[in-house]
Amino acid sequence: MNVTLQNLTKIYPSRDKKSGKEVVAVHDFTFEIPDGKLIGLLGPSGCGKSTTLNLLSGLQKPTGGRIFFGDEDVTDLPAENRGVGLVFQNYALYPHLTVLQNILFPLQNLKGKDKLSKEQMLEKAYDAARLVQIETLMDRKPSELSGGQQQRVAIARALVKMPRVLLLDEPLSNLDARLRLQTREELKRIQTQTGITTVFVTHDQEEAMSISDLIVVMKDGVVQQIGKPQEVYDDPANLFVAKFLGTPPINVFTGCVRDGQLYIGNAAVLDVPGAADQQVCVGIRPEGFIPDEQGALCCKLSGIEVMGRDISVVSTHDASENRTIRSIISAENKVDVTNPVIRFSLKPSKVFLFNESTHARVAFRAD
Ligand code: ADP
Ligand code: MG
Repeated sequence: MNVTLQNLTKIYPSRDKKSGKEVVAVHDFTFEIPDGKLIGLLGPSGCGKSTTLNLLSGLQKPTGGRIFFGDEDVTDLPAENRGVGLVFQNYALYPHLTVLQNILFPLQNLKGKDKLSKEQMLEKAYDAARLVQIETLMDRKPSELSGGQQQRVAIARALVKMPRVLLLDEPLSNLDARLRLQTREELKRIQTQTGITTVFVTHDQEEAMSISDLIVVMKDGVVQQIGKPQEVYDDPANLFVAKFLGTPPINVFTGCVRDGQLYIGNAAVLDVPGAADQQVCVGIRPEGFIPDEQGALCCKLSGIEVMGRDISVVSTHDASENRTIRSIISAENKVDVTNPVIRFSLKPSKVFLFNESTHARVAFRAD
């Protein structure tokens, strides 16, 4: 089922009587989610992720715009008739019901031609439970389960009606680090296996990057960029996106372009043919630094951290926006930590320029 968002907008009336300012939680969001894909909706807290999801589910009504499931306009359809499965951060299981009863619950309210026999319901409940591998826990109460198991029950309950669209709002946030990793891989498996079009909301860029077919990066209700995770990482549209993706985060310097050369401080650090003269923010990915005695970028060396395969070099520079610069280099490089400075040359494909005032990407030809 492909899902189309057409100029989707949600404006909340002001909660602050004094300022009277309304909140544009989602602004003019247009996108066609391809059938059977997992979309990661990514951005910092308050950027409008949950609101977007609630509009898709029907729990909230848009201020403007339309939503289509396939060819069907579902904008005015109530949540219970949309055929969506919902999973929230806080599981929201019924504490007094067993796992089986929790999973059965959505099936028991089916009316008319959709009504199922007891046997059919049990079969569907066990199918869903097997999918998330909790079929041996069916008689337990939620309080007798771990957080990870509870979240699987919530996922099974969302899947039991075989929804047209699966909507997940920060479903892994309450799990500890190890379980979060494991459950996200499992989610990806379940999604691939069922082929249900899925929207996955998270503020965790690594989580979104690792399981999404496409990511949508949002800021203040406005979509910043949509693309495959690797494409967005390799080709960020603006400074916000560049900073939001990647661990360790991108290093940002102030610099300027003059006559096709990029300057950081007084040093010409890179040829940037095609870029017009201007003040810029320079984003350099941690993997974009090459230790090089002849390199033009000279940083004060603070220390190194050995990480097995790689070395993380920590340094500083007066033009750096971050307090420390982190570069990741192969452990085959020898770094003399007694040196007060370290010099780098730069990989052009890992250097991004942004206009200093608009923060929009400034293109140059990497030769
Ligand atoms: P996210 O899920 O990305 O953290 P939300 O969609 O929950 O963001 O919220 C987006 C913006 O809308 C925030 O500024 C939030 O304060 C505001 N907001 C959310 N719900 C309401 C509401 N019911 N009334 C007024 N403002 C709201
Ligand atoms: Mg939210």
